[in-house]
Amino acid sequence: MSLANGRHYLAIPGPSVMPDPVLAAMHRPAPNIYEGEIVDVVGSISEDLKWVAGTKHDVAIYISNGHGAWEAALANIASPGDRVLVAQTGRFAVGWAEMANAMGIETEMVDFGLTSSIEPDRIESALRADVDKTIKAVLVNHVDTATSLRNDIAAVRAAIDAADHPALLMVDCIASLACDRYEMDNWGADITVAGSQKGLMTPPGLGFVFFSDRAAEAQAGRSVSNYWNWSPRSRPNQFYQYFGGTAPTHHIYGLRQALDMLKDEGMEAVWHRHEVFANAYWAAIDAWSEGGEIRLNVPDQRNRSHAVTSVYLPGAEEMRQWCSQNLGVTFGIGLGREPSMDWFRIGHMGHINAHMVLGTIGVIEAGMIAMKKPHGEGAGGIAARIIAEGALA
Ligand SMILES: *Cc1c(COP(=O)(O)O)cnc(C)c1O
Repeated sequence: MSLANGRHYLAIPGPSVMPDPVLAAMHRPAPNIYEGEIVDVVGSISEDLKWVAGTKHDVAIYISNGHGAWEAALANIASPGDRVLVAQTGRFAVGWAEMANAMGIETEMVDFGLTSSIEPDRIESALRADVDKTIKAVLVNHVDTATSLRNDIAAVRAAIDAADHPALLMVDCIASLACDRYEMDNWGADITVAGSQKGLMTPPGLGFVFFSDRAAEAQAGRSVSNYWNWSPRSRPNQFYQYFGGTAPTHHIYGLRQALDMLKDEGMEAVWHRHEVFANAYWAAIDAWSEGGEIRLNVPDQRNRSHAVTSVYLPGAEEMRQWCSQNLGVTFGIGLGREPSMDWFRIGHMGHINAHMVLGTIGVIEAGMIAMKKPHGEGAGGIAARIIAEGALA
């Protein structure tokens, strides 16, 4: 008999849980889009987004999902025939590269596999090999949501500098922004791509491209369509230019509320909370792995994201569906790992708290019991200890 009554928990890596205050902020009539409150709200959103991303530079907002932000970023700095280097640590790097190819941009892939992060030395060598310095940008996922690998962005910057190469550093932070620590300016990223529906706790539909002065210089004089061009969107002369047309009024209200919540908590606390919850999940999975085949995809803790965890469990897909139907928690599907039915992912990004994490750990264990998957004991107690220590810190 199903025990899924009550509020369903969608624990996938985006869309993440939307806070009630965010949903409530959106529940209102459309405002005048020519003048008044909405104009001020958009200005404040741009400033606060930059605060979240750790940049003093510019941000362009698109009415799009993450794929739209990917395309926007590429369209501003590369033209057909140009080359980019792509650091591959999972399915999302491949997706971004495929998009570049479809735009006529040539891609050179550096493949780091599916269980370990970027080795900066190999980026440096690939750039040194480009003696004519034709590579326009290095594309990197801060977090690859398929593998749950996290990459060291400052180390990639250092590799580009060591090769004395002018390529821009373009970072996909769609999964990680407001979950894993990110400092765009301090780490030397030129472009940061993000979306509304993950750490930013707002419905899917807004894409963000943050860009440095160097990126702006690289864009200058390039032929970019009016719609994708990031210049009028970041520094509009008229309000409609922020969005190249009608503003996404209700997303703006929702995002304003979400940013207020991040400001109230503070980024250090937001990052700490995600770290504690990630640690609790990892410790639980390690405890289960003592008596079964379940295990984390990423062996080295330093390479793991705090936003999402990719887990190997033979027959994971049947357990995932059973938990969704019977226990009221839906996990993410296995992505970019074969066979995909033996993998699942836990989204632990955004609006989550201790009892959601501890409850979810219990749900996974119940799912393994129901599906007769052997596993070690004691995961719940270990996770509770980590959460208690995290809250006392
Ligand atoms: C979710 C995600 C994307 C794609 O975003 P969509 O909104 O689904 O288009 C791209 N990159 C990463 C790292 C993601 O997590």
